[in-house]
Amino acid sequence: MPRRECLNPRCRVLHSGPGPRCPMCTSRQEQARDAARGTTTQRGLGADHQAAARVVLANAELCVVCGQPPTADDPLEAGHIIPRVRGGTNDITNYRAEHRSCNRSQGADLRQR
Ligand SMILES: [Zn+2]
Ligand SMILES: [Zn+2]
Repeated sequence: MPRRECLNPRCRVLHSGPGPRCPMCTSRQEQARDAARGTTTQRGLGADHQAAARVVLANAELCVVCGQPPTADDPLEAGHIIPRVRGGTNDITNYRAEHRSCNRSQGADLRQR
């Protein structure tokens, strides 16, 4: 394989890797992309999540999962009907009020399936 210069202007090392960048820069670039994706996901759980959760909780009196009212130890939380890992959105229609404990146990359940 012919050697070529790494595309990274700060690297410029001669390499014979499969891509335009040397293997080291390629893996660094992928790490940066993963980090950026993580931040976007976290940002997605930001303002619109807060707003939707507030509205759902403001109208909620009972837990949707078990039908019981909230307690001091087990307050209601806004949970996703379709988990975000399964493509659920932060749209208000994807939220429901559920106990913190119901939210957790259901999440664990979904992870096992
Ligand atoms: Zn490089
Ligand atoms: Zn409940």
